[in-house]
Amino acid sequence: MIAELRDIKMNTPNINEAETLLSIQDLHVWYELRRFGFGHAGYVKAVDGVSFALEEGETVAVVGESGCGKSSLMKTILGLNIPTRGEVIFDGENLSALNGIGLRRYRFKVGYVQQDPYVALPPFMNVQKILEEPLIISGMKSREERLARIHKVMSEVKLHPVEDFLEKFPHMLSGGQQQRIVIARAMLREPRLIVADEPVSMLDASVRVEILKLMRALQESHGLSVIYITHDLSTVKYFSRRIFVMYAGNLIEKADTRRLLGNPLHPYTHALLAATSDPDAHNAETFKEVPSGEPPSLVNPPTGCRFHPRCPHFMAGLCDVKFPPDFEPEPGHFVACWLYENAPHSHQNTPSVQ
Ligand code: SF4
Repeated sequence: MIAELRDIKMNTPNINEAETLLSIQDLHVWYELRRFGFGHAGYVKAVDGVSFALEEGETVAVVGESGCGKSSLMKTILGLNIPTRGEVIFDGENLSALNGIGLRRYRFKVGYVQQDPYVALPPFMNVQKILEEPLIISGMKSREERLARIHKVMSEVKLHPVEDFLEKFPHMLSGGQQQRIVIARAMLREPRLIVADEPVSMLDASVRVEILKLMRALQESHGLSVIYITHDLSTVKYFSRRIFVMYAGNLIEKADTRRLLGNPLHPYTHALLAATSDPDAHNAETFKEVPSGEPPSLVNPPTGCRFHPRCPHFMAGLCDVKFPPDFEPEPGHFVACWLYENAPHSHQNTPSVQ
């Protein structure tokens, strides 16, 4: 699979010339815990001070273990979660200032590709109804217009002849065909941003390559921005221009994909890479440290650096006391770790936006 993925050509825009499409500023998403449904019992701090900017046409991967907060981040970007604090600004508009109609219009501009296509598609609707419904909701009154749009997106996701699929129900399709329908649905209203939540993790290896190639082709031909949420570092390097590593509600390392994989800095990034089944012999030799332990509770996260109970480089009196800000040991490579305190450039983690 990896060899086939290498064939996916990276054709990213010149980011220096691109406009910022999405800006996340000091975002906090906390869920309140209620004791037996009544008294306040604390918060689950799923996203706790995340900042970044996504350029028009840029592809970024958010990588981390289950429970690190990446799904809460994704739902907030989709407008499904209300931020506890901080801002989500899309194309100059603050999401928290949008009313019902504004929020609906926003959702037309953001496509969502779910992890499990079988769950994402309603089992009692055929393909035509599944794809026609969002167009009706978005106000496309003409049936001819709707069918023309459906034919166009189905051709783009390579489901042809289109007529052979329109009457089929999800259970009559293979996993790969179902995921193509999910992608077609995300593309229906000509979005500017696609949020893809582990889009290939439920598929067979051979189908994964085809789906990633398809997403890459759509991203390039439509100039889409993509946020690719995953725990699998073996696919991101062929798909994303930048990687953000997330741990316990924070982005702990951010860099250009080649730079981050060629010179990972944070001990947790080393651990993630060590856990990746990568056939690249160089990587297999380089990343040997696999820390023990589990990700921390997001209700009572560790003080200081949240990775300190698992970190092989833990420095008592510092790592367990002070939260590490972002340091920039090389241009454009940000890491929240005290090991890089004496790097030439450093600045506070929040509310900076990189
Ligand atoms: Fe390890 Fe300290 Fe760096 Fe955290 S700040 S990753 S505990 S060295």
